[in-house]
Amino acid sequence: MLIFPADGNLSLYLHIPFCTTCCSYCAFYSEPVGANKAYLQGYVDRLEQEIRACKAHLDRFFTIFIGGGNPGSLPVEQLRRLLLAANAEASDEVTLEMNPETFNETYFKLFEEGLVTRMSMGIQSMDDPTLTRLGRNARREDNLKAIKLARQARLLYGIELSFDLMVCLPGQTVESAIADLHEILLRSGSDHISLYCLTVEEGTELAEQVGLGNTSVLDEDGQEDFLHTMWTELRRLGFEHYEVSNFCRNGKKSKHNQVYWRLDNYLGLGSSAASTLKEGSIARHYAQKQSLQEFASSPCFSGYEEERVDANQQIEEYVMMALRTNAGIDKQAFVARYQQDFDTLFASALSSLDSSWYSDSSQFFVLTEYGFMVLDEILLRLALEIP
Ligand code: SF4
Repeated sequence: MLIFPADGNLSLYLHIPFCTTCCSYCAFYSEPVGANKAYLQGYVDRLEQEIRACKAHLDRFFTIFIGGGNPGSLPVEQLRRLLLAANAEASDEVTLEMNPETFNETYFKLFEEGLVTRMSMGIQSMDDPTLTRLGRNARREDNLKAIKLARQARLLYGIELSFDLMVCLPGQTVESAIADLHEILLRSGSDHISLYCLTVEEGTELAEQVGLGNTSVLDEDGQEDFLHTMWTELRRLGFEHYEVSNFCRNGKKSKHNQVYWRLDNYLGLGSSAASTLKEGSIARHYAQKQSLQEFASSPCFSGYEEERVDANQQIEEYVMMALRTNAGIDKQAFVARYQQDFDTLFASALSSLDSSWYSDSSQFFVLTEYGFMVLDEILLRLALEIP
């Protein structure tokens, strides 16, 4: 059974692992909705029961995020049931992930009732050949229609919008990526962009095509140049680069994602969802191991496997998450949290870092954009210092 934080401060992630078809680069767990329609009802029923059981332990969730998969695989009434069960109106932020091809006016009901305050849409590209190569279901026309509707929703109900864009894609030029960015911002008026660099994940169709030599991807230097140009353009457009892949204007940061980056408590419900829950100095991760078919037909709270996270692992995770953000490490908060001095613990690794990668003061250690580019290398060096 899951252990709930005593202070009642908890965010909720609901995983909806249904997609129309699988995108060529995607390594997340999801299954085709068409072949699994028989499980939809049972899946939502169980999620709703689990949410209601949680409500015995707390009044409200700090933030809620419904992600996937594609939550647009569920009709509005099923999403509404889940959000009502979670008392979503009382949360500080409720984000709904949505694929363009499934977005329509029926979902406006959720905005109108104050059950969803933010929508995150995976546009990825505005170019048809690129969308085809990625195996996306949406085409440029679908994206345009969805962006127009999203803008309407923003103007009518005051919801916040975020759009995902992918870069370093086969056949994509920096100029076309910048044109996509401008078009999305101009048409939507969004204050939030998530910008992801294509990664080739093992076991995906993309990895197979790269292995066969049918597709090529940029090397590291090419990716760095591409990202550098995109980041510079976003900054020119008034966006704050507040996390490696996330940019906002007018202070519109994602509250839910900041919970992950601060390692605050969050509960993930649904097939393949993950949770982090702390009780004093003890932290636990829970991973839901059931397939969506098993999840839909098994008792509530079955299949969540617990892993205790020891003190050193907690430090490693904290550093890994904090350095993704432009807030970086607050050294006093670090001592309070782990009873260890950041500068002393990591002295040797810190002295090995290039000075252009970070800024360091008595209070904060923060990576620069050059540091973000080599984040993995920096984390590796710091991790080697942890006993
Ligand atoms: S829609 Fe999202 S979750 Fe579904 S296959 Fe594509 S990338 Fe993966």
